[in-house]
Amino acid sequence: MIPSATGYSPFRDEFPELSVKVHGHNLIYLDNASSTLKPMAVLDAERNFYTTTYANVHRGVHHLSQLATEAYEDARRKVAAFIGACSENEIVFTKGTTESINLLANSWGSIVRSGDEILVSAMEHHANLVPWQMLCQRSGAILRIVPINEAGELDLQALDEMLSPRTKILAMVWVSNILGTILPVEEIIAKAHRVGAIVMLDAAQAIAHMPINVKALNVDFLCFSSHKMFGPTGIGILYGRSEYLTRMPPWQGGGDMIRDVEYNKATYADPPLRFEAGTPPIAQAVGLGAAIDTINAWGWEAIKVHEKQLYEHLQDVLNSIPGLRKIGYAKQRTAVQSFLLENTHPYDVGILLDSMGIAVRTGHHCGQPLMKSLGISGTVRASLSIYNTTNEIDRLGHSLRKAARMLGIAS
Ligand code: PMP
Repeated sequence: MIPSATGYSPFRDEFPELSVKVHGHNLIYLDNASSTLKPMAVLDAERNFYTTTYANVHRGVHHLSQLATEAYEDARRKVAAFIGACSENEIVFTKGTTESINLLANSWGSIVRSGDEILVSAMEHHANLVPWQMLCQRSGAILRIVPINEAGELDLQALDEMLSPRTKILAMVWVSNILGTILPVEEIIAKAHRVGAIVMLDAAQAIAHMPINVKALNVDFLCFSSHKMFGPTGIGILYGRSEYLTRMPPWQGGGDMIRDVEYNKATYADPPLRFEAGTPPIAQAVGLGAAIDTINAWGWEAIKVHEKQLYEHLQDVLNSIPGLRKIGYAKQRTAVQSFLLENTHPYDVGILLDSMGIAVRTGHHCGQPLMKSLGISGTVRASLSIYNTTNEIDRLGHSLRKAARMLGIAS
């Protein structure tokens, strides 16, 4: 069903947390880039798993352990199909995007040498910056930052100039959590491959907003978090091309990642288990599988139509507010908008909106270098999802005008 533009979302009823009252107001949840709310299907799947099927995976001959293993591996197959991977063996379960990038920086990073170059953009989340900084400190590799323009778009000419045979890894955000920019990733991947670099995409903000096909993209690694796509916290994905995963050493040691262990040495399992030491997030994988089924049932067309309406309405509403400055105005965007009210601190605006029942995020959004380069300490960020409505955006507009009056910047 295609949703209408009239302050309505056909998906709302599936999200019980939307009925929560905040300071006496109906909750308006506009912090979706940080984490999405969870539909009943995900909650039911986890509850059902814990009440009927739960046991530890991979090590048991007993009935429940086999059922749990099957459920866990079934979730892996769902993820593989969802992102168009060649095989479920290319799907590594991690704790989230952050852990996926750390895994890659540590494991693939072990072949990086002094003088090699790693490229990231000027709008990375700290999760796609600090692990590479740490790798460079360990290895003597050089971290290079591809600049962006004022609108928040990647400077592709600078990228061309920076790419060279010294570039070993290009690790880049697909959709900026701060600026909402959608990067032209197909073009970026092709450019990086031409100089022989491997490419990792941080798809944390892309995964809930657009269909992804890693084969069509020809990307080498891609990571995302379940909690930003209606699934549980505590689980995420590192997708890696088989030929690369099989060459990568383990990052963490322990149970489940081994083939054979002696007192003074061990051999390791094949991927993906090589990278999943210890008891994995089993029920979370089942919940993630249910989130994928739910997104597939909604359909990307319906999601895109609704989010486009919301995005356009958000732009209209924010444009009508005197003294509001948008941070990030790239041509290709998702439904994320950072902004400032002139002469106010984002934190004060966030607190006032919260008192009116509206959840937005304020601060540096894990992008301190970008904030410093923009000469600001932070922003207010409204980020939309499938269950938001145009009425909620109108209420954001009214509340922002009220906040501006309360902060003494509008009459
Ligand atoms: N990258 C981007 C672009 C993000 O938005 C986030 C989460 N805000 C992360 C990485 C880190 O994700 P997580 O905290 O789930 O590991």
